[in-house]
Amino acid sequence: MKKLINEDMGRHTSFRAGGPAAVYIIPESREELVSLVGSLRREGSRYSVLGNGTNLLVSDRGIAETVIEIGKGIDFIGLLGGGDSCILAEAGASLSAVASFAARMGLSGMEALHGIPGTVGGAVVMNAGAYGTEMKDVLLCCEVLTKEGEEIQLPAGELDLSYRHSAVPENGWIVLSATFRLSPAEPSEIQQRMREFRDKRAEKQPLDKASAGSTFRRPSGNFAGRLIEEAGLKGCRFGGAQVSEKHCGFIINEGNASAGDIYGLICHVRDLVEEKSGIRLEPEVKFWGDFS
Ligand SMILES: Cc1cc2nc3c(=O)[nH]c(=O)nc-3n(C[C@H](O)[C@H](O)[C@H](O)COP(=O)(O)OP(=O)(O)OC[C@H]3O[C@@H](n4cnc5c(N)ncnc54)[C@H](O)[C@@H]3O)c2cc1C
Repeated sequence: MKKLINEDMGRHTSFRAGGPAAVYIIPESREELVSLVGSLRREGSRYSVLGNGTNLLVSDRGIAETVIEIGKGIDFIGLLGGGDSCILAEAGASLSAVASFAARMGLSGMEALHGIPGTVGGAVVMNAGAYGTEMKDVLLCCEVLTKEGEEIQLPAGELDLSYRHSAVPENGWIVLSATFRLSPAEPSEIQQRMREFRDKRAEKQPLDKASAGSTFRRPSGNFAGRLIEEAGLKGCRFGGAQVSEKHCGFIINEGNASAGDIYGLICHVRDLVEEKSGIRLEPEVKFWGDFS
């Protein structure tokens, strides 16, 4: 288990901004993770769980609680026996790696999820999705660590999965693994579909810039990017943060943005879009720490 003090969260989030985590711990196995969480609970210490940090903005003032990174060492991916076309992946595995593994195994269903840069745990929490497929469509069940320290398996139906929402945070669960149910198909066809989704993404999204993907949730019957563009905010800057000129739904770090710049721009965009369209955008990005 690796323990770091005052670890710069800009190194662990795709926005590449934010202050330090007072304590940053990287458990190297599921057993280490379960035992670490048990001892933090017994001490009454607060903690937050980090996947790949691709949907997160951490305050410039940092965060006082312990950050637990779930990644390497908790990233097994394998086929489940029994001929059910199922893949088991631990929470720290990258979703892209799971989708690539599925393709090699001739299992279809995750092609559209391949380009989402998070971990399996983060994707379950967010019910991540793209191009008409969400985690909900392929997730069979999930193992979680409960607040009481129990490791339990839940069918996907008990996770209350809906648009970018799951019941994981409100229950204080930690995702340990996920099982995906997929359908047999030709590997070359699956790979071809994955390439098509990858090309679409590269064409539309500013993938060469630091961001957290879509900054805002999709408002009902509309698109955040369209509303932002119509409000005249394309390219709008706040310090080092900018509304992407390629895709207005993305706020990007142009190089030296602070978390305060990014947060300030998020608030400005939300307020101006509401003033112009009457629609209040809700952030999809999660915020850690104090932004007051
Ligand atoms: C370029 C780019 C493109 C993107 N495209 C998409 C897209 O097409 N579709 C989409 O849905 N999202 C997209 N995203 C957003 C992001 O990748 C997803 O939300 C992803 O699922 C987040 O996973 P993560 O591991 O990075 O989670 P993190 O950002 O690390 O964490 C997100 C939340 O999940 C919690 N969490 C993480 N792991 C666990 C765990 N094991 N147990 C309990 N809680 C946990 C964290 O506490 C936090 O609240 C994109 C982001 C980027 C940067």
